[in-house]
Amino acid sequence: MELLSAALAVLAVAGLAAAAALAAKLKAARAALAASEARLAAPAPPPPRALESRREHYGLLWFPTLTVKEDEKLIVAAAAGLPHCPRCVRPLALSSGPPEEWSCGGCSERRPGTTADLQVTDSLVAETLKEFLSRHPDWRAAPGLGARGR
Ligand SMILES: [Zn+2]
Repeated sequence: MELLSAALAVLAVAGLAAAAALAAKLKAARAALAASEARLAAPAPPPPRALESRREHYGLLWFPTLTVKEDEKLIVAAAAGLPHCPRCVRPLALSSGPPEEWSCGGCSERRPGTTADLQVTDSLVAETLKEFLSRHPDWRAAPGLGARGR
């Protein structure tokens, strides 16, 4: 009789442990479900937006672009783009040369290849960033941004 009650006590303890383990698993599953429901309910962040500006640089037109995440007030990319003809406002094309030349398909505008080299595009991008940040002091540029050309 004593053996039987001891066996029953062991079974009861085992049952309690199993129930506690199940309760813990259920709690974890409920937390995971709540987390995935929260993820599904959260609105997707808006896609990055491209902001184009217009600049004149050594007699050529440029339309540098900043790619921004408005919800984070973050500039994620900056590009100088192609130089444009100041008369036709058409993008110039680079001939392979030699010598390398930028030329307009609409008129006779021609510029040496160095007119839009990496140094020029980098300074254009830097100017564009600086100007944007001075007008939007609470914004910031992504790390490493500011020295990339096209
Ligand atoms: Zn032209």
